[in-house]
Amino acid sequence: MLRLDSHPAGRHFLQIPGPSPVPDRILRAISLPTIDHRGPEFGALGCELQDGIGKVFKTRHPVAIYPSSGTGAWEAALVNTMSPGDKVLMVETGHFAALWQKMAARLGLHVELLEWPGGDELLPQAAGWRHGVDAQQIEQRLRADAERGIKAVCVVHNETSTGVTSDVAAVREAIDAAGHPALLMVDTISGLACADYRHDEWGVDVAIGGSQKGLMLPPGISFNALSPRALDVAKTARLPRSYWAWDEIVAMNRDGYWPYTPSTNLLYGLRESLDMLLAEGLESVFARHRRWAAGVRAAVNAWGLPIQCADAAVYSPVLTGVITPAGVDADAVRRLIHERFDLSLGTGLGKVKGRMFRMGHLGDSNDLTLLAMLAGVEMGLKSSNITLAGSGVQAAMNHFATTT
Ligand code: PLP
Repeated sequence: MLRLDSHPAGRHFLQIPGPSPVPDRILRAISLPTIDHRGPEFGALGCELQDGIGKVFKTRHPVAIYPSSGTGAWEAALVNTMSPGDKVLMVETGHFAALWQKMAARLGLHVELLEWPGGDELLPQAAGWRHGVDAQQIEQRLRADAERGIKAVCVVHNETSTGVTSDVAAVREAIDAAGHPALLMVDTISGLACADYRHDEWGVDVAIGGSQKGLMLPPGISFNALSPRALDVAKTARLPRSYWAWDEIVAMNRDGYWPYTPSTNLLYGLRESLDMLLAEGLESVFARHRRWAAGVRAAVNAWGLPIQCADAAVYSPVLTGVITPAGVDADAVRRLIHERFDLSLGTGLGKVKGRMFRMGHLGDSNDLTLLAMLAGVEMGLKSSNITLAGSGVQAAMNHFATTT
């Protein structure tokens, strides 16, 4: 039986790219007594949350808050805006893009997938999983869509399976340059509150968020940030929807309530999270993540191992994917690190299983927790008989000691 209060001495290092460690302050808030979700205190909390989450998405428009994991909010985005057989354009940037695509197909949509045109020596089975979304490729495809059959362009902002953060503003520019009416939908589940995201300014129609990454909450809350156009399109879209229907949840969220029982205690945590993020200021939250990511990459470079993201312009501030040498099972290395050092790293997902591992550097962290993670990884790589070019821990210490 799993016994969460029985673990080796010291603390566990949860360094997967989400769920991320939950700060004590948030855990304390979540432990407060559950109250009536139809009472006046709750309505005041709900209104406060609408205001705060809008600031994090950088939107003046409604954000639907669901009691679900991020996958639910993916579904909400599609079922509220699409009709059976509609065509959506998606980009194969990694495992989560592929899962969203699978969901769209299951919902009866016609999915057109844009693939990376080049190859890759290190990951030939997943060449596109080392790059971001190519906005020019999207523009070309939309220009060729003379009959305007494509109803939505769906992209993942921060690919949690690869460590690549795509340029969402460039995708909006591509859609506009092609003069195409497709909606822009963005999965920012692992980008939100770590990487810069600007819903209104970037002209995103539906953004999908989740609680368990940059918001530093346990899993269980998801979001749809909307545009007026998305709300308009939802009025005539014909895919069946009930639990996810925006009309009910948006109207009730506006007054601080839900059409069904919300995750009351997680919402206490959300209020705490929003307080923490907005008090720090989003720009310094983003700068903090960029600095951490640069320190972690300095370590990987010093080890002489390849970073999965092959394009420095789109390195993720949230996580770093590391490709292990050919013939080394990355999961065996992860297992060893977990057993020896009580440190959890992200596994390679889907097409890259066994070929890479992921280090999360997001949320409630600091220079020393990241150095501890890097020390655990460095020891684990050595114990796995992987020859390292140098000390990553030393490189990261140099980075952290010389930057603020
Ligand atoms: N999209 C991205 C980018 C993710 O990182 C995840 C989960 O890690 C999901 C979608 C799916 O979200 P969930 O597992 O909360 O349903």
